[in-house]
Amino acid sequence: MTETAPTLGQARRLIVKIGSALLVDDATGQIRRDWLDTMADDIARCRARGQEVVIVTSGAVAVGRESLGLTGRVLRLEEKQAAAATGQIRLAHAYQDALARHNITVAQVLLTLDDTEARRRHLNARATINTLLRLGAVPVINENDTVGTSEIRFGDNDRLAARVAQMISADTLVLLSDIDGLYTADPRKDASATLIPEVRVLTPEIEAVADEPVAGYGTGGMVTKIAAARIAMAAGCRMVIAKGKELKALSALDRPAAEGGAMCTWFLPSAEPLTARKRWIAGHLNVGGGLVVDEGALSALGRGGSLLPAGVVAVEGRFQRGDLVAVLDRQGREVARGLVAYAADDARRVAGRHSRDIESILGYRGRDELIHRDDLVLV
Ligand code: GLU
Repeated sequence: MTETAPTLGQARRLIVKIGSALLVDDATGQIRRDWLDTMADDIARCRARGQEVVIVTSGAVAVGRESLGLTGRVLRLEEKQAAAATGQIRLAHAYQDALARHNITVAQVLLTLDDTEARRRHLNARATINTLLRLGAVPVINENDTVGTSEIRFGDNDRLAARVAQMISADTLVLLSDIDGLYTADPRKDASATLIPEVRVLTPEIEAVADEPVAGYGTGGMVTKIAAARIAMAAGCRMVIAKGKELKALSALDRPAAEGGAMCTWFLPSAEPLTARKRWIAGHLNVGGGLVVDEGALSALGRGGSLLPAGVVAVEGRFQRGDLVAVLDRQGREVARGLVAYAADDARRVAGRHSRDIESILGYRGRDELIHRDDLVLV
């Protein structure tokens, strides 16, 4: 828990969620380049001080509908999906251009909410985004609207951003919106409404405030933002709702409001992301199989290491990549559990072997670890 007032400067791995209303001019359907350019300046500044930045952006439908002549009426799902298909290209280009001014490479990642929920794809998406960050790129993420099977709703990206935060163990999520935070009541209806600067527990009262549908409060309203806060806090990620319309919206979060920074609402979790991730793994109920390990592996795990194939003497049961499996000692006692990086058949083939042999045994180069230490909890 932070005792000093929370600011953006404390973030190490930062997700910035940008809504359509900020990025796209309502009247023309064009991307607001001046806004995006200053956002890129802000992002470059965060990176220059050592912070990793991931962008979750909306706007594909809003930008694409114009170019397809789909304006001035409510779109059917397939029309929205078509609009997203053309808009997404423009969106990606706009980010690429804006960040290229700072010599920053962007990488487009299109996800569906399901990718973050299904563990198998989750492991891959997590590894890909981690790799992009390690290589210095800024992932620009949106929902894969064109192939989605459910209605595209505004506000989905609030939840998507929180799921991404959970998936990559981000410590800070910024939801840029057209309201500066969560109020005790609807400030347009109730003059006594005040901004809540800090939330540590999502109480029923807070959920009740969010339940009020208030038009104009960001396309997704407060409901999706509180849903995002619930996911982020459970994942050990701080979240802030702040007004994004003004230029330099990120810089404004560098100082607390009392010291001239932006008014905003911070949602502060009680745990760190990795602790929360391990709790999430420990809380899984369905153990798909078991890996029996030797003494060397046991002591490596005890020292906080990953589980390598070399230390595995037997593989039990059937499981898929990304499933939860138990790690057992030779007596069959469970010593740890974790998300396994190989399916049971492949795990059997590499068990007892050195990681450098994985490629020649399986015909593809997978991970060096059977269970990475971030995906493993001792029991
Ligand atoms: N994915 C949608 C888009 O790019 C927007 C979803 C949202 O606004 O939350 O247009």
